[in-house]
Amino acid sequence: MNGILFVMTGASGVGKGTIRQAAVPDLGDIHYSISATTRPRREGEVDGVDYHFLDMAAFRAMLAHDALLEYAEYVGDYYGTPAMPVDAALSAGRDVLLEIELEGARQVREKRPEAVMLFIAPPSIAELERRLRGRGTDGETKIQRRLARARKELLAVREFDYVLVNDRLDEAVKAFRSVIRAERLRARRLSDEAVAALLRAT
Ligand code: 5GP
Repeated sequence: MNGILFVMTGASGVGKGTIRQAAVPDLGDIHYSISATTRPRREGEVDGVDYHFLDMAAFRAMLAHDALLEYAEYVGDYYGTPAMPVDAALSAGRDVLLEIELEGARQVREKRPEAVMLFIAPPSIAELERRLRGRGTDGETKIQRRLARARKELLAVREFDYVLVNDRLDEAVKAFRSVIRAERLRARRLSDEAVAALLRAT
């Protein structure tokens, strides 16, 4: 049986990474996909852990080799999901989690209609603005562009299977875990062997 592909989308600053880091230790085996990006590394970020930091030529080479499952431009930089690690994990029966913006999420949905799509919303745009400023990683123009993009993404929320509002972190983490667990329990995911096991008399 293939693993389940989870896609998590939501404005930058909404807390996707924080929710994931808090939820994942309790979720058993789930492979987090490390994206490629042309964005400069922020302080504290580690190449190969937070992102694969590439220059534009290396990113273009990945595109030319059809090595990305999806990609998008976001506020002046490119971001994409390397396809190979995702497919390797899924075919080994491992669940996979992508954290990507809306355009990329749409591409994944086209290519992999079975993917489970989660949207993380901020309690309000004002709160998102506060969080982006508090992070202190972007200048004013970038913050405004990220907020404009966040508004656009919120308009697409009903394209997703689930929506989680990240108001209180502990509640959002619980909701996130619930979604993952419920999806893993879907009866249609049972393999023939699992059904045979249910039928076994002893
Ligand atoms: P940041 O610069 O804040 O790390 O990321 C900016 C936005 O790009 C976030 O919404 C983040 O989820 C998204 N992003 C990160 N990796 C990928 C990716 O591989 N593909 C796409 N489409 N978006 C990504």
